[in-house]
Amino acid sequence: MSEMLPNPLAPEWLALPADANTLHPGVWSRGASRDASGGIEVAGVSARTLAETFGTPLYVIDEADARARASDALAAFGREFARVGSSAKVYYAGKAFLSAEVARWVTGDGLHLDVASGGELAVALAAGVDARVIGLHGNNKSVSEIDRAVAAGVGVIIIDSLIEIDRVAEAADRHGRRQPVRLRVNSGVHAHTHQYLATAREDQKFGIALTDAEAAVAEIRAHPGLEFIGLHSHIGSQIFDTDGFAESARRLMEVHARLLGDGPVPELNLGGGFGIAYTGADVAMPIADIAAALADIVAAEAERLGVPVPIVAVEPGRSIIGPAGMTLYEVGTVKDVRLDDAVRRYVSVDGGMSDNARPALYEADYAARLANRISPVAPALSRVVGKHCESGDIVVDAEYLPGDVQPGDLLAVPATGAYCFSLASNYNYLARPPVVAVADGVARVIVRGETEADLLSRDAGLTAPDVIKNGPTT
Ligand code: PLP
Repeated sequence: MSEMLPNPLAPEWLALPADANTLHPGVWSRGASRDASGGIEVAGVSARTLAETFGTPLYVIDEADARARASDALAAFGREFARVGSSAKVYYAGKAFLSAEVARWVTGDGLHLDVASGGELAVALAAGVDARVIGLHGNNKSVSEIDRAVAAGVGVIIIDSLIEIDRVAEAADRHGRRQPVRLRVNSGVHAHTHQYLATAREDQKFGIALTDAEAAVAEIRAHPGLEFIGLHSHIGSQIFDTDGFAESARRLMEVHARLLGDGPVPELNLGGGFGIAYTGADVAMPIADIAAALADIVAAEAERLGVPVPIVAVEPGRSIIGPAGMTLYEVGTVKDVRLDDAVRRYVSVDGGMSDNARPALYEADYAARLANRISPVAPALSRVVGKHCESGDIVVDAEYLPGDVQPGDLLAVPATGAYCFSLASNYNYLARPPVVAVADGVARVIVRGETEADLLSRDAGLTAPDVIKNGPTT
């Protein structure tokens, strides 16, 4: 196989593999391997068994891997900030993937939980998560979302605009609470990532300009019902180095130090966004190195400014749940498309942009492997596509798959634990797949898959014809 030439249609980063069956370490969950038959297994359960039992497409989460990543993050930040005389809080960013089980795993393992809507808050509370470890985000929280959060006793609300100061203060007064709040600021740091993910540039919707932060904090402090606990910044997602965090921390610490002149500022939240490996070409920074770098930067700034090292909070989502997940699909059709000087193989699977919107949204790259067997056949450059009516319905833009991939084969796409289930849709009336957690040789459903009946039950033309005819009644 290794004598083959790379397909000229392959992107530069995609190397022609010596063996297109290898599971690249770092891209697959730690519990993923090839079993004696050659098929992929996760935590002792084979892909074939998973597909037979739960159907495809199927989101699979390696529970031990997700929990280890959560605990590793907590331990690393705790250790590194203790080293510089402070402490750290790690919020799991629920937007990456949230279900009752996952909320219980991460909070049970000592993390805090970041929710970004009333719906995410509802999941966390229904799961029995202690409201005091929850932080509520959102650039347009409704008055009722704020009210529910305050009533529930959430640990912190991240204020995203000046308008929200009064809204949160009014809710605090209504419920006789003193509500801890952070202020989300836009540090102006350009993270090295896809432009849509770089959320701390000036020209975007999140937070308020750092230059306006002192006035905003003065306003917050003027409300007896609000307790200001610190600044918050999130510079983007899928970031592979610490330069952006360092620059953001420097800018925030300047303001943080000035704010200390007028009252306590115990914490500083640097957000999430730590990158993960989606393909063999990506190299993710170990969480211990990220934590060490951030502790050094914050401590150095605190010393330069003559202030105590704050309690630092971070909010990783993707780096905890992303690598722990994979999606299983069944191949339906295989088609070779002849272009001028090369052939691109299109491998169609039974899901697509409805279960993974990231390639369409961000041109995100993924990897794929045959999951029901290994094959000795020379690899062919393949594009894994879904079954939706969009040419942009791409699951894996470019991958070398064994040349004999055929209908009925199972394909596994790794690193789909984050922002796949949570961004899923019903485009083309596809039912959203179930989520299965696998641990110690046992697989169990943690989110039920939708059925066609679920989808039809929402169509009022079928279930409540009067609504269609007469309009809703109030
Ligand atoms: N915190 C905030 C405010 C975010 O907007 C996000 C993602 O968009 C995160 C944390 C989590 O980012 P990631 O999943 O990349 O770690």
